[in-house]
Amino acid sequence: MGKDGEDDKSAGRIADVLVPVALDAAFSYTVPAGMDLAPGDFVEAPLGSRLAAGVVWDIRPAPPGASNLKSVAAKLDWPPLQPRLRKFIDWVARWTMSPRGMVLRMGVRAPSHAGPEPVRVGVRLAGPPPQRMTPARSRVLAAAEGGLIFPKSALAEAAACSAGVIDGLVDEGALETIALPPEPAALPCDSGYAAPDLEPDQARAAEILTAAVRARAFSVTLLEGVTGSGKTEVYFEAIAAAVRDGRQALVLMPEIALTAQFLDRFAARFGARPAEWHSAVGARKRARVWSALARGEVKVVAGARSALYLPFSDLALIVVDEEHDAAYKQEDGVSYHARDMAVVRGQIEASAVILASATPSIETRVNAEQGRYGRVRLDGRYKGRALPRLTAVDMRLEPPGRGKWISPRLKAALTSAFERGEQGLLFLNRRGYAPLTLCRSCGHRFQCPNCTAWLVDHRFRRALVCHHCGHIERRPQMCPNCEAVDQLSACGPGVERLAEEAAETFPDARTMVLSSDFPGGSKRLRNELDAIAQGECDLIIGTQLVAKGHNFPLLSVVGVIDADIGLSSGDPRAAERTFQLLQQVTGRAGRFDTRGEALVQTFQPEHPVMRALLSGDCEKFYLEETQQRLRAGLPPFGRLAALIVSGKDAASAETHARALARAAYELPPSPTWRLAPAGGLPRDDEIRLLGPAEAPIAIIRGRHRFRLLARSPRNADLQGFLRALLAAGPKARGGVGVAVDIEPQSF
Ligand code: ADP
Ligand code: ZN
Repeated sequence: MGKDGEDDKSAGRIADVLVPVALDAAFSYTVPAGMDLAPGDFVEAPLGSRLAAGVVWDIRPAPPGASNLKSVAAKLDWPPLQPRLRKFIDWVARWTMSPRGMVLRMGVRAPSHAGPEPVRVGVRLAGPPPQRMTPARSRVLAAAEGGLIFPKSALAEAAACSAGVIDGLVDEGALETIALPPEPAALPCDSGYAAPDLEPDQARAAEILTAAVRARAFSVTLLEGVTGSGKTEVYFEAIAAAVRDGRQALVLMPEIALTAQFLDRFAARFGARPAEWHSAVGARKRARVWSALARGEVKVVAGARSALYLPFSDLALIVVDEEHDAAYKQEDGVSYHARDMAVVRGQIEASAVILASATPSIETRVNAEQGRYGRVRLDGRYKGRALPRLTAVDMRLEPPGRGKWISPRLKAALTSAFERGEQGLLFLNRRGYAPLTLCRSCGHRFQCPNCTAWLVDHRFRRALVCHHCGHIERRPQMCPNCEAVDQLSACGPGVERLAEEAAETFPDARTMVLSSDFPGGSKRLRNELDAIAQGECDLIIGTQLVAKGHNFPLLSVVGVIDADIGLSSGDPRAAERTFQLLQQVTGRAGRFDTRGEALVQTFQPEHPVMRALLSGDCEKFYLEETQQRLRAGLPPFGRLAALIVSGKDAASAETHARALARAAYELPPSPTWRLAPAGGLPRDDEIRLLGPAEAPIAIIRGRHRFRLLARSPRNADLQGFLRALLAAGPKARGGVGVAVDIEPQSF
């Protein structure tokens, strides 16, 4: 550092430190003389009565009179947060209108919560074999042959013995211990490990995507093609290009459950697994991945939406797999859409972004059609494997009988699949046993005490459960209302009930239920998927967990039990969502050697969604949906934002929501937005305020919720308007809270 720098320091400097808590402002501290500090550095600084870790957001000369500030306690030895990531965090905070500290928290949780790295002990052959030999001891010595060093646990596993056997051999001098370097965050992957021979259309697509990676400039490309068309193989080529250049790639997945199979498939292509990142990964492993990424040692990460906030040192590519999936929208805490934020991160990092889907979202299709995104299509399935034959079963004409859900036609199709030694799948997008429990004697319905929601009967967990707040209670014998005994009746089907019916209908079939309610997490799911692929099961029964991404090589018949679920939810995206889900689940059938068949049980075969699905004419469906959105000014042609006002007391929440609405019309005019007068017809460039009204789910976790909805044209400064309103409007108090949801998913 030159002389000027020294002078600067002696004049005193201030560090503005952003702390990962729910606050927007950075805290200011003096920088101790001699501490070499720059923006992006991690520091420890006093916060209240404790020391907190934070990131230096800015360094500036101390103004006169700043001497009453506390000073930074220590500089931490973590890789600094790069300017591009800080810019992204600032951007997400502004866009989602969340405190910056909360956005920061999503990205830096890793280093701050991990303990020190444990010391890893390796063992290797040392002296002569021990005098006393046992079968276990000779297995260990045989496994350790060749002078290699093993982590102790790996050797014990290889020899199928306890660690005690190894300790004994060390004590007697046959083995010696040696300290190993810390476990790497991920093994290096090899871009050429098992590159496939691509089909001509795959090769063309791969070339375009590879060129996008190589361009070292921001671009977004939609990669479209039916399930099984080979999209994954194609984007693997783009990842390979990034890896070959020594740069990094991120693959986002909508659900943790999907990552396990992906990791194996990735390893088969690249010779090693990518680093994994989601809430089920332990803190220490996350810390390892976090730092290794910042140092550029890890090249590929596969993870859930929070992986977007990782400190990549040189991010060449972001892949958003199943880009249409609603699970990309986070609603808790910072509410954001990971697909959209991936595009923003790509822009800031000058990366290529690939959005992959068999059923792209309307938003992405429109962006592609209007030329903002590139578009690459794979036609048909890999090797021309046929798409499944789709048929509707009109449940009005072919009822399965009281309390039953499997129609005779579906039963016959499954029976003959089992006879051919093939698998069947029953899809029902409802967890639990029954969505509603009713007293036959008085009509009492079991409702969640905290939410506007029925309690779902979960026989497997022996309880009634609320799917919104997790409230759980025992299923009683007696009706709490009329005290009638044994009169409670399950209404409607859930997967557990369907499994019961399947067991009666197909007594010889080996059945497996896949639902997120069963314990064991992703490990268990992975074992189950392996078992299914090995043919250890005839009938798979599942919720949307089975619709997404998994390969079922032996599956030939898919039955959709209640295709109409979700169509009547009142959510304008309902048709699109249902179409996407049904397209995906029926696409599971017949991916390999057999032509598949899908039977779709519906009460509304004439519904546009069913017609599009059965005719295979997606384009027509998308066109109609898109035009409807255009006419209504709904996303992506217009923008939406919601203010959710909530409180334990309904009246105070509603009063505050009304006060906010009134305040909006009294705001002074702004150069960046215009609010349409209440009740009038909005002009093309005006924001329109709707409500307050009860939120779609009026009570959650005991809090009453009212919603103000702001709709605007595409280019209006909606956030600017909301910011002005929240700054100038009445302040929430008395337990009332206001949350912002930009682009709410149900509107
Ligand atoms: P998608 O991602 O579009 O659903 P996948 O990439 O999973 O499609 O491909 C479907 C199946 O076909 C997978 O089992 C995949 O391994 C196989 N496959 C696709 N392309 C090739 C290829 N060029 N060579 C060998 N196998 C391929
Ligand atoms: Zn509840």
